[in-house]
Amino acid sequence: MSTDQTHYELRCRECGRRFGNQPRSICEECFSPLEVAYDYDWIRYLLGEGTIDPVRTMRERITQRAPSMWRYSDLLPLPEGFEPRLPVGFTPLFRAPQLAAKLAGNGEARTAAQNLYIKNDAVCLPTLSFKDRVVAVALAQARAFGFDTVACSSTGNLANAVAAHAARLGLKAWIFIPADLEPAKILGTQVFGANVVRISGSYDQVNRLCSQIADERNWGFVNVNLRPYYSEGSKTVGFEIAEQLGWRLPDNVVVPMAGGSLIIKIKKAFDELSKLGLVEEKPVRFFGGQATGCSPISTAVKTGNTEIEPQKPATIARSLAIGNPADGHYAIKTIKGTGGWSEDVSDPEVIDSIRLLAETEGIFTETAGGVTVGCAAKLYRQDRILAEETTVLCITGNGLKTTDVLAGIYEAERPIAPKLTEFEKYLEETLAASKPRQPEVAREAAAGIAV
Ligand SMILES: *Cc1c(COP(=O)(O)O)cnc(C)c1O
Ligand SMILES: [Zn+2]
Repeated sequence: MSTDQTHYELRCRECGRRFGNQPRSICEECFSPLEVAYDYDWIRYLLGEGTIDPVRTMRERITQRAPSMWRYSDLLPLPEGFEPRLPVGFTPLFRAPQLAAKLAGNGEARTAAQNLYIKNDAVCLPTLSFKDRVVAVALAQARAFGFDTVACSSTGNLANAVAAHAARLGLKAWIFIPADLEPAKILGTQVFGANVVRISGSYDQVNRLCSQIADERNWGFVNVNLRPYYSEGSKTVGFEIAEQLGWRLPDNVVVPMAGGSLIIKIKKAFDELSKLGLVEEKPVRFFGGQATGCSPISTAVKTGNTEIEPQKPATIARSLAIGNPADGHYAIKTIKGTGGWSEDVSDPEVIDSIRLLAETEGIFTETAGGVTVGCAAKLYRQDRILAEETTVLCITGNGLKTTDVLAGIYEAERPIAPKLTEFEKYLEETLAASKPRQPEVAREAAAGIAV
């Protein structure tokens, strides 16, 4: 089971042993994870080396392609002759001046407003999280390897993405989730006709079960035997950030972490763009965010450990609730090696941060985005991120999937009769009560001004 010889193949991250292309994620010699390695000379040639102005040619070839993650196909492990069936990715990147003003504090609001950006994967298609990117690549390989059934263990968003992409590609899907996942994420998997298996246990237990099933059945598990291909899809977040900043790398990125794959793959993306000459090489600091109730990576960074001590998750940030992250060791390395840091926030801070982002910039993110914003607030406050530095916050999922965490926060207004006089009366009463329209306490807590 292997695809034709191409410009990429699996290699052991530690001993360097080569494995060609096959559904496998662990080195049989040293049990380290496998990673996709590329022939960059070949990619340079594909993209336009030898022309008079190769950098310009490469950039033009990419930017003239359709606005989706597939414009970076040359840097992804896709099978020969692959034709994309879904326009995934190429989500907006934009300045967040009002959020910046809250995060950076008084004297520096205007400077920060110029330099803070949001990469908004809350609107990534088709299932409204960055997981659509990883699944798009994994399923391209699943088909090439001849699997007719794909599967995953998931904290929610991956389940949605695998189910939707499988439906589109005509593959059967088996999705394994912790039984107590958010209802919207369960429904948003079932609707695509996938087989959903709810397990009474934590994500880490679900994942262990999936490794056992993968040994038994000839199924393509996107985050088990297809994991090296899957995780490459995350690089497209990094490629797009650089392109959207005008082929320039930022000073800082803030990334929410579950398994720790996204953060290390954004780093790989920046390194690849530098290697190809598409951007000027420059140090970028990587900042990771977690929920305090499940913070194995940030705890390791803060205590100076290089290895993960597994935790038992207890947080509303379900999409990040992985107690034993597969790429934790490498995430720690990326954070420390770039001069970054990792923070974590409590569940109330996650909720305050979801509301802060919504009220300042009009973006409704799920709990993982609350983690990003809450951690960014702390990092500005600690002067680990400065107002004059170009900083990108990765908002990775959509708030409509986790509305249950906001239940009870907003009162249901009493209905009024459809009459102008009724409305006038209502308006008068409301203004007289002068209820603050915006939760100042929440804003100030997230901005670090008070509380
Ligand atoms: C999975 C997920 C993450 C974290 O991704 P890892 O690569 O596992 O670290 C972040 N945000 C959201 C919304 C996710 O679903
Ligand atoms: Zn090895």
